[in-house]
Amino acid sequence: MSTQSKECRLTVGGCVNSVLAQARLRILIVGNGIAGSTLAALLYQHGETPVVVERGSKDDAGGYALGLYPLGARVLHGLGMYRRYRQISRRMERYILHESTGDVLKEFPLAEFTDRYGDIRGVDRGLLLALLRSTVPQENVFYNTTVQHIQNNPHGAVVTFSDGSAHEFDLVVGADGMHSEVRGMIFSQNEFAYKATGWGGWGVWRSLEGFDEATYRELWADGWFIGLYPVQNKLAVFLGGNKKELSTTTAAEFVEMLRKKLPAGILHSALQSLEGLDDAYFWDMEDCRATQWFSKRVVLLGDSSTAFLPTAGIGASMAMNSASVLADELSRTDVEYLALALEKYVVRQKERVELAQKNSRFLAKLMFQNSLSTSVVRNYLVKMYSLQGLLKGIGKIMR
Ligand SMILES: Cc1cc2nc3c(=O)[nH]c(=O)nc-3n(C[C@H](O)[C@H](O)[C@H](O)COP(=O)(O)OP(=O)(O)OC[C@H]3O[C@@H](n4cnc5c(N)ncnc54)[C@H](O)[C@@H]3O)c2cc1C
Repeated sequence: MSTQSKECRLTVGGCVNSVLAQARLRILIVGNGIAGSTLAALLYQHGETPVVVERGSKDDAGGYALGLYPLGARVLHGLGMYRRYRQISRRMERYILHESTGDVLKEFPLAEFTDRYGDIRGVDRGLLLALLRSTVPQENVFYNTTVQHIQNNPHGAVVTFSDGSAHEFDLVVGADGMHSEVRGMIFSQNEFAYKATGWGGWGVWRSLEGFDEATYRELWADGWFIGLYPVQNKLAVFLGGNKKELSTTTAAEFVEMLRKKLPAGILHSALQSLEGLDDAYFWDMEDCRATQWFSKRVVLLGDSSTAFLPTAGIGASMAMNSASVLADELSRTDVEYLALALEKYVVRQKERVELAQKNSRFLAKLMFQNSLSTSVVRNYLVKMYSLQGLLKGIGKIMR
């Protein structure tokens, strides 16, 4: 057995040696989520050999429903994945907003948006991740692995992995999500800020039977909301509310309370036969923004640079879009001009990403109303909005 393969059996750093043997650029991607897996697939297609480390295990591609705008999904055309994506996702045709009584407040046909820009589709995050991860060779990806330390130098970043081994890279991409550890290792506390809304909630699944697979529905009330998001064969049900109110309640108790509030109808029916209610994960409705996206040989991508509230359903699309811009800039540089490529990536993306985040924050302001009086005013205002008005910032980015 060669020294290298012996070493490879023992450490991540050792295995990386052989993966990077012929590399033009030695790139490490931390996080194999939406942003990281899109970037890895694109780089691999361009002939690079990126190394990816992922904290989770190979089989645990955590899933909830994602709405994808063409802004993100169109990346899949170039990757030769679009046909498969169409099979595993569902096209959305309308968004129906309900008030607290369960009555329809307003229906927004999506055609005015989709006719111009392309489909908005609902997809299970786990299926999308499996698709995005399907082209990069297994030996490039290390699951159950994190990064312990990064020594960020002007001409290379020396990374120590969770198994204690180390390797030097030309570039480290922090694609490790909203609570990015890479960001925490490189940037100071005053270079990024979380923004809390005081709201949160549980995402659970149920059967799609009896529900329209082309309709997103949300109910906005005072202090609580319900969202129904179809994907292939399943309906994601999101139950949200003011965190103070929810802190003394379990997901099952909250559902019981909502069942009593709501008269018979589509939303009441959606609260029957929910799966996984007892161990449902509680999502904090917060986001995050970093003022700096790169430093020397470490760059942030996706939620680690700018994280999104789920209110506009744009976070995953933006992450894929940014991954395509970064891959493009990396394909146009050699190691000598890497810093310039990173500058160009930031110039092309930061303002657009922040505009989308602003749009998501605006929707959160409308949605997360705690009192009856302000929610009455909100409902009155929302009736006057068009879809274009609600998604004004996102519309600008699409153009
Ligand atoms: C409830 C909810 C609903 C949402 N709905 C939508 C929607 O409908 N549409 C939409 O576009 N967006 C939605 N979003 C936002 C969307 O999920 C994110 O914006 C998107 O996933 C960002 O991609 P990312 O790759 O940056 O982060 P993630 O997809 O979170 O991926 C980060 C990856 O990094 C890994 N990781 C974390 N730490 C480490 C570490 N230290 N070392 C190695 N790996 C690590 C994680 O395991 C994960 O695989 C929603 C978010 C929430 C919370």
